[in-house]
Amino acid sequence: MRIDLRSDTVTKPTPGMLDAMMHAKVGDDVFGEDPTIVALENRLADMFGMEAGLYCPSGTMTNQIAIKAHTQPLDEIICDQLAHIYNYETGGWAFHSGVSIKLIQTERGIIQANQVAPCVQPDQDWLPNSRLLCIENTVNRGGGSVYTLEEMKSLKEVCKNHQLIYHLDGARIFNAIVASDYSTSDLHGIFDSISICLSKGLGAPVGSVLVGSKEFIKKSRKIRKVFGGGMRQAGFMAAAGLYAIEHHVERMKEDHRRAKDVSEMLSALPYVASVMNVETNIIIFSLEHLEATKAFIAFLAQHDIHAVPFGASSVRFVTHLDFTEEMLIRLQEVLKKFSSVNHYNL
Ligand SMILES: *Cc1c(COP(=O)(O)O)cnc(C)c1O
Repeated sequence: MRIDLRSDTVTKPTPGMLDAMMHAKVGDDVFGEDPTIVALENRLADMFGMEAGLYCPSGTMTNQIAIKAHTQPLDEIICDQLAHIYNYETGGWAFHSGVSIKLIQTERGIIQANQVAPCVQPDQDWLPNSRLLCIENTVNRGGGSVYTLEEMKSLKEVCKNHQLIYHLDGARIFNAIVASDYSTSDLHGIFDSISICLSKGLGAPVGSVLVGSKEFIKKSRKIRKVFGGGMRQAGFMAAAGLYAIEHHVERMKEDHRRAKDVSEMLSALPYVASVMNVETNIIIFSLEHLEATKAFIAFLAQHDIHAVPFGASSVRFVTHLDFTEEMLIRLQEVLKKFSSVNHYNL
């Protein structure tokens, strides 16, 4: 039994999803003629209280299009030092948009309202123009941490006061929603744009949707084209996204419950030093002997359990649609076999 805990991007389409894809009505979306893509864009725009949406191949593209559309060179964007936009998008903010970046230090990627004002640059020739605040919910590098509605709203107030545009990297926004007491409609009117990934917890094979105002999406559509992201009969893929929104949101609670179970298992193991508090589907932990981390991952791989190191001294597990109850039991068996004795022999 292969168990893949490297990311929630590793899922394969379910039979129901494949069926929806096979029966999708499609057309040439560069001409705006793919009814399934249009339906997906409108569905997510409506859900999040926005005027329009834009289907893109990846979450990196939706974030980078948003930055490009919201800024001009000499502008500065503000985000957390753990942000995906900063760490894992190949420095795209500089490459595509010619902007600089101001980083905020936080515990788990949750920016507090009082941390933003000190980052806003005064109007001087030698300073960039503070333009855009980007937050992430859930925070990937924060171990799947979740913003409260109040935190997101307080940041909106700060943005208003300092004329900042407000973007949400909501790659895992449905994880956040399922894990908290707010719904998509509670998010209406807070953000200027939101990026939503279909290929993470939702389990679609491809795609992210950017939502925002009509004018913003019109501009974004042109940027998507110049980025090479104009697609043709991609409605087959969009159908998977629509299916996921209908069938794979509530079930994320299972992923979260299993992640909690895994964190409890880990906490009980003598060789595990600490486990970050699990809020959603991401588990980050470290071993007593940091030098054993590599051997631990190799040991798991020998048992066909796959994980990735997280930074120099931690390990990350991500639960998802294709991580079953049976796999949870198998994982526990294998975790128990590893000990601080045998890792020195590996
Ligand atoms: C995965 C992810 C993205 C987008 O990644 P792609 O692989 O380009 O789709 C953006 N932000 C966060 C927080 C992510 O986890």
